[in-house]
Amino acid sequence: MDIEIGSWVNHRLRHGGHALAVFEPATGAIYARLHEADAEIVRAAVAGAAQAFPAWSRLRPSERAGWLNQLADAIEAELDAFAEAESRDTGKPIQLCREIEIPRAISNFRFFAAAAMQFASESHHGEAGLNYTLRQPLGVVGTISPWNLPLYLLTWKIAPALAAGNCVVAKPSEVTPLTAHLLGRLAADIGFPEGVLQIIQGSGISAGIPLVTHPLVKAISFTGSTAVGKQIALQCAEQLKKCSLELGGKNAALVFADAPRDGLYETLLRSSFQNAGQICLCGSRILVEQSFYDDFVTEFVARAKALQPGDPAAPETRLGAVVSSAHYQKILDAIATARAEGGNIACGGGAATMPRMFEGGWFIAPTVITGLAPQCQTNQQEIFGPVVTVSPFVDDADALAQANATRYGLAAQIWTSDLQRAHRLAQAIDAGIIWINTWMTRDLRTPFGGMRDSGLGREGGVEAMRFFTEPKNVCLAL
Ligand code: NAD
Repeated sequence: MDIEIGSWVNHRLRHGGHALAVFEPATGAIYARLHEADAEIVRAAVAGAAQAFPAWSRLRPSERAGWLNQLADAIEAELDAFAEAESRDTGKPIQLCREIEIPRAISNFRFFAAAAMQFASESHHGEAGLNYTLRQPLGVVGTISPWNLPLYLLTWKIAPALAAGNCVVAKPSEVTPLTAHLLGRLAADIGFPEGVLQIIQGSGISAGIPLVTHPLVKAISFTGSTAVGKQIALQCAEQLKKCSLELGGKNAALVFADAPRDGLYETLLRSSFQNAGQICLCGSRILVEQSFYDDFVTEFVARAKALQPGDPAAPETRLGAVVSSAHYQKILDAIATARAEGGNIACGGGAATMPRMFEGGWFIAPTVITGLAPQCQTNQQEIFGPVVTVSPFVDDADALAQANATRYGLAAQIWTSDLQRAHRLAQAIDAGIIWINTWMTRDLRTPFGGMRDSGLGREGGVEAMRFFTEPKNVCLAL
């Protein structure tokens, strides 16, 4: 074991009393030790952040933007090291880290640096005199993020919080702590203002709960499972604390017979299996119009079979391991449930056969399942692995009914050449994000998040800046 990971509080590394093993998903080997933050370390992090808040919030927006850009530049200068760390920690392909996830973390800082300069508020001039609205930072805010896109989702929260003038205590997932650890060290190295960005490491029980319940923490921005999100909402309610929740999904991809073929299979293959299906936006239920169904399944399954997991560190690998032993088992159990429910395993269906050095790793073959009804467990519960179902629909109404037939409402795809139909369905589908003939095309200014059990509130652009500020109206009678 060569790496010791701890919490960064006021630019100093703190180790709590309890340590967790950190595993390399590709081999199953322990490669780092995570010293969990306990309640005392969390209190120190919050106190340091509270102390840093007056000076940070008084900086001009351009000065805060300057600091965010410096962080972005510093990550960019070490892009390869960050990409290698992320790939090792998560089991995802290095190509994904190098070309998408770490660059996106850098963009998050640059985007919200620009947002700090652009953020404006309303004024209303009329019978009630002159009203203008101040949007002031909240103070100390907490962020809690998951293991599937570690640095990408961590920075998606801390960048707007910092840009809006808050100090942040950030808790990454204990399953994938490494890139957040590197970020904490980098912030210290570049002399980022002390206390403004604190990284606390550890599990939900050790570090998460003390953060959520700390009275000085004014808001919690959480991304993770629906079950934990609901617990956090309850805890926040006790202190009437603002919270934003980005939770699970069971997203539908509606494929009509007139779907443009250009990019159709490639995109659906990505939306099914990118990051081994461990992206909240993945389309895990593909619904195909009856007349196109057989042809679609034949072609899609052939392509899925050709996508074999490989060494995450190899540049040509497009499918890596899943994140942990527990998650691996959960996905295998979900596939067993699909079989028990009468599903036809068109390809995959279990652990992938791997070369000897990866035999201890957690690799699952891309799995396509057909023949299951909308209400079965497989089509209702989030699996969060390289597993999709494909089901037929008869017409628009049937497609819509199936798309909406889960408790979730995060994202959906609509594939058709009939744009009127696409817009009609986009209005009717209960999801926060709709893609027409595309997937994962992201403009960081747009609202990001879900409805129903997929969450509460939105991230992205102005929505995030508003979440991290308190509006205050000032009225002058004229
Ligand atoms: P999780 O809910 O188990 O953990 C998420 C984070 O919460 C981790 O940092 C964890 O340590 C922390 N945590 C756990 N219990 C806590 C508690 N009681 N109090 C405070 N913090 C606590 O989720 P996960 O398994 O890490 O991530 C996978 C889930 O995240 C999936 O359900 C996925 O859909 C969801 N997700 C959603 C989005 C989105 O934008 N909607 C994005 C990515 C992932």
